[in-house]
Amino acid sequence: MYARAVKRLDVGVVGCGTAGAAASLFLARAGHRVTVYEAVPEPTAVGAGIMLQPTGMRVLERLGLLEPVLARGARVDRLHCVTRERRDVIDLRYGDEHPGAYGLGLHRGVLFHVLFDAVTREPGVTLRCGEAVEELRWRAGRRVVVGSSGLELGAHDLVVVADGARSQPRRKSGLIQRATQYPWGALWFIGDDPEGTFDGTLFQVVESTRHMMGLLPSGLGPTGETRKVSLFWSIRADAVGEWRERGLEPWLATMAQLEPRAVPLLAQIQRPEQVLFARYWDVVMTPWHAPGLVFLGDAAHATSPQLGQGANLALVDAAALEDALAGAESRGQALRRYSAARRAHLRYYQWATRFLTPFFQSDLGVLGWARDTFMGPSCRMPWVRGKMVRTMCGVERGVFFGDSLPMPDAFE
Ligand SMILES: Cc1cc2nc3c(=O)[nH]c(=O)nc-3n(C[C@H](O)[C@H](O)[C@H](O)COP(=O)(O)OP(=O)(O)OC[C@H]3O[C@@H](n4cnc5c(N)ncnc54)[C@H](O)[C@@H]3O)c2cc1C
Repeated sequence: MYARAVKRLDVGVVGCGTAGAAASLFLARAGHRVTVYEAVPEPTAVGAGIMLQPTGMRVLERLGLLEPVLARGARVDRLHCVTRERRDVIDLRYGDEHPGAYGLGLHRGVLFHVLFDAVTREPGVTLRCGEAVEELRWRAGRRVVVGSSGLELGAHDLVVVADGARSQPRRKSGLIQRATQYPWGALWFIGDDPEGTFDGTLFQVVESTRHMMGLLPSGLGPTGETRKVSLFWSIRADAVGEWRERGLEPWLATMAQLEPRAVPLLAQIQRPEQVLFARYWDVVMTPWHAPGLVFLGDAAHATSPQLGQGANLALVDAAALEDALAGAESRGQALRRYSAARRAHLRYYQWATRFLTPFFQSDLGVLGWARDTFMGPSCRMPWVRGKMVRTMCGVERGVFFGDSLPMPDAFE
């Protein structure tokens, strides 16, 4: 325990996804009074697989929630990306840099349920589901939360905005520099992999910059005991309509050719409705705070999922907010500390994602050629390899300069 200089705050949290749920737990356990506003009346997790990195696992450990997540996740030791001709583009192992380190492939529902259930059980948290927040007004030193109906829902000393990439309150915050959608996204399917064909490796096959197929071991899912694997397929957002019209057959045949081991998985896809389309955002704001207000997670810094860091960054944000409040002399000082503490880490991952994404998903074929020619050999150079493994682990903080975050103890 620490002696807190900031008085017990009345905190409103907008959104009960990864960042909002984790922040609510940290803040309530530090003695603040927390009210969570969640737009969805009965939240459940949608989506396919995500990768938890050592940084994200460390935060879950701090919250006492790592064990149930590990129990239903799949250990991933390697990221292996090849061309159609099976030439290595990326081949990285977590253990190369940090013995004992690994990633965790996870059904998104597992992370959601573990966090959401903890929030519902937490004594200091009031959860108000079905309350979509539209705007945050500043009145008499407090933030007033305004719902989509225009009604005032509450007033708080501090509001934590964690309502995801399409954040409503962000629009009028005056902090936003950019919130644009990438022209590309991905089709996602999660299916059974009872034989564990894809265990241990996040595997990708690329062909120019137009085709990318990925297979992520995703653990057991929220229920059941059958191993799952997530399939993702890169696609331009404006080509999804045509994909639907053409029917599944040509798509399934292309993927079976790219990765024959996936045939039993592909046989589980019988209707387009089984496949989800996700589009990505690029959100830039800095600093991430204003008086009585702070933005966390995708609302603050959404990126494409190329580096598999979004949920991890959201978890690290939540822990960093608690650290910034602990021992701060005032609410303002705590928020300034928060933005300063997150700057190098977030800037690096936003830059790296923006830089790398077009090499894997874009209309620039020349980047595919450059990737296939130079990335494989670069991966074998010790300095580059170390940098790439640390980036994958979620701990990197600078391109040439800047110290990396320490690897979590459990992984050293
Ligand atoms: C296809 C895809 C693959 C991904 N893969 C990975 C991966 O491998 N690893 C990884 O770490 N990350 C991955 N991500 C990113 C990761 O999912 C996000 O970065 C993470 O979920 C962000 O958490 P968040 O809490 O900021 O937002 P969200 O999880 O989106 O939560 C936002 C919450 O706010 C609620 N809400 C929305 N609007 C309002 C409102 N107006 N009022 C109140 N509540 C509201 C929503 O209902 C939701 O509950 C991926 C993302 C995509 C799209």
